Amino acid sequence: MAAQSIHLAWSNPVRIHWGAGCFQQLTADAPVVVLADRAALSYENETLLLERLGDHCKAWNWFQGGLASVALARSLCDELWPVLHEFPEACVIAIGGGSTLDLAKVLRYRFSDIPMAADCWRSNTVPPAVLRHPLWLLPTTAGTGSEVTRWATLWDTEAEPAQKLSWSPANGYAECAFVDPELSFSCPLRQSRDCALDSLSHALEALWNRNANPIAESFAVEAAHLVIEKLPLVLEHPGNHEARTALARASLLAGMAMSQTQTALAHALSYQLTLDEQVPHGEACAVWLPMVWELALGSAPGCDAALARVFDVPAHEGVQYLRGWLSTLGISPRDLRDTPAGRSALAQEMRSARGRNFIANR
Ligand SMILES: [Zn+2]
Repeated sequence: MAAQSIHLAWSNPVRIHWGAGCFQQLTADAPVVVLADRAALSYENETLLLERLGDHCKAWNWFQGGLASVALARSLCDELWPVLHEFPEACVIAIGGGSTLDLAKVLRYRFSDIPMAADCWRSNTVPPAVLRHPLWLLPTTAGTGSEVTRWATLWDTEAEPAQKLSWSPANGYAECAFVDPELSFSCPLRQSRDCALDSLSHALEALWNRNANPIAESFAVEAAHLVIEKLPLVLEHPGNHEARTALARASLLAGMAMSQTQTALAHALSYQLTLDEQVPHGEACAVWLPMVWELALGSAPGCDAALARVFDVPAHEGVQYLRGWLSTLGISPRDLRDTPAGRSALAQEMRSARGRNFIANR
């Protein structure tokens, strides 16, 4: 029998600096504009970074929390594009969670005017005249994996009804990511839980995915193992730096897997939950994981085999382990298959961009 071959096109240009303390090695030899999450950066690290950047730092803007909305992106661009205009070689540096990094991914594309930019964010198009600034990303949560993907989520809360946009230029990757687990050590517990659930969701979504491949599978299974083992330890002992470092690693590995496969049905279903009930992103994905796992069963032998590796039991048994694990974290899984309205919502999300990546979607 001929050996089965697959065509694997792996591409991720982000230069990754990994490890405790790597953030302290950051140096700039050109002008930079900084966007940082006030809640995520200690005064000590702020001082250290300002010292390292010195005169190269031309602007410093604080992200004060909230959704990465079109309105917020607009006001940031209004404030920072004039500085980028003055220093056309300037690099954008973002320090924070997924929302901060995603806003920086938008901000680094400089348009001639803001109304035109907002139109392009909404249509996910990049006109040729747009100027692209280099981007360095420093995640402080473990995590969204945003530092190694090329897309940014923007919420269009001015649309009726509100919408989730995905801004994903072909060259949307950052030049560089500093993944320093120490930056995540002070992340509040609830946020740590939700971000780790997001990592687990990225890992599982890379497995039940039409774009799944063996390399992404290795990253994803390792990421899932780390979250399942280490998240309960962090929640019990927030000062456990070894466990927190493992979650930062899980976030990066899951992000790398997702950067190749994109996300799938659980993410497609999560967005409405975030819009309607303000459920944080990680939790909004996690509540759908058991149902989506069950829907994936039997759709492809490779997928079943990969899911079996997550809990080291047959895939159809693994979903019960997942339910049990989620319940210890206070997560109540949801299921849309029991009612006609639920089945209709499920069918609708299957047809969405992310839903179409789902492996059981025929
Ligand atoms: Zn996610």
